[in-house]
Amino acid sequence: MYPEITREHRELISKVREFGEEHFDYQNVSRWRRDAGLPDEVCQGFANLDFGKFNILDRGEDGSYDFFAQVLVLEELARVSASTLPFPNDFLNLQIMGEFATTAQFERVYDHYRKDGRLMFALAISEPHGGSDTMNMHTNVTSERGTIIMNGQKTYVNNGEFAPYLLVAAIDKDAPRGKYPALSFWLVPTNLEGISVYPIRKIGQSMLPFSDVIFDGVKLDESFRLTGKMGGFPQLFHMFELGRVFSCATALGLAQSAMEDAAKYASERSAFGSSVSDFQSIRQMLVDMEVKLQNMRNCVYRAALTVDRKETDKDSRLLVALMKRYVPATATEVASDALQIFGGRGYTYNERVASVWKDCRGYQIAEGTDQIMVHIAAPLILDKYTASIEEKTKG
Ligand SMILES: Cc1cc2nc3c(=O)[nH]c(=O)nc-3n(C[C@H](O)[C@H](O)[C@H](O)COP(=O)(O)OP(=O)(O)OC[C@H]3O[C@@H](n4cnc5c(N)ncnc54)[C@H](O)[C@@H]3O)c2cc1C
Repeated sequence: MYPEITREHRELISKVREFGEEHFDYQNVSRWRRDAGLPDEVCQGFANLDFGKFNILDRGEDGSYDFFAQVLVLEELARVSASTLPFPNDFLNLQIMGEFATTAQFERVYDHYRKDGRLMFALAISEPHGGSDTMNMHTNVTSERGTIIMNGQKTYVNNGEFAPYLLVAAIDKDAPRGKYPALSFWLVPTNLEGISVYPIRKIGQSMLPFSDVIFDGVKLDESFRLTGKMGGFPQLFHMFELGRVFSCATALGLAQSAMEDAAKYASERSAFGSSVSDFQSIRQMLVDMEVKLQNMRNCVYRAALTVDRKETDKDSRLLVALMKRYVPATATEVASDALQIFGGRGYTYNERVASVWKDCRGYQIAEGTDQIMVHIAAPLILDKYTASIEEKTKG
């Protein structure tokens, strides 16, 4: 159905499915949701999987990953586990590190990840004053009598309580401001004096523990600074686009799992002397859910392939924003309908759909809200259509 999905991709998906089926039964997933994380052996097992010819965790010779294959892996993991796992964040965080660090800085983090299956750092970007408005970041570094000092506050730091290091985005107050504020990344040991970490209790995506982190006069060493490519905010915004595709691949996999559970339950459950799946209103829900799944998959694959082929910046920015506008909200609708098909049972922890619904809902906010996607996509759409009108009138 998708010519881009080759035999090798299908083999990759079955290998990931096998891994998922071995580990992610509902009992395990419920326990790991309560524990807010996966056990060591599962993380290590994933890092040790043989991904064949695909660069999933390691970079290819040209320094890049097989992005489309990564997306297929994340979709399948979400489908088989019916849960948001740490892997989408790990994929993205490794790529952010790779983008901003020198090879030596990156290799240190990468070697640790390959050995442990866990990243040694937690990424700290969002702030109480700068969620959607990332450039309104207040966390900063400045030099005081020869010592570098960091002040500020981060929020939604995934793994902030547990990772030995934080990868902190900060405004460099001493560097001249160009078109954008001067952004630098710092790999900071979490146990430095002046750093306080407070857990955040969120309602879904429970395997990902989040925290607020406060930096109060933290003394840094210049060696903590990432000194690879120094592209600043434009480079970071490009990385956000990769994260959006990973989030949508996960939301798609989650919605697919809800669909599969709901279709099975509708066939097994009876009411008024007939199978629930015989009621026209249930059938209509199942049909609409399937239409939405196909549309979501088209959006995700198209955006992923465009990013993978490094097609023009504007095309891929628009496709990614349209995908992120559509997929999480639609995945939430599919999960909600699945929950409805389960009736009262769907509103309990006896079934996976309730937590799938909450996880999908989170993606309407994470990695750029539904509204921010309008903010990004609308000017690109206007530009696209007014440019084509101008060309026609010229012709
Ligand atoms: C499940 C989940 C996971 C997350 N994971 C991470 C993570 O791993 N790393 C990380 O750094 N952050 C993470 N976040 C934080 C997330 O990136 C921010 O919550 C998000 O960007 C929104 O920022 P905010 O919460 O400050 O809301 P605000 O920016 O304050 O927005 C408030 C409201 O105003 C709307 N709004 C804002 N600006 C505009 C505009 N220009 N046009 C129209 N409407 C607008 C928003 O859509 C929203 O409805 C996560 C959040 C969630 C819920």
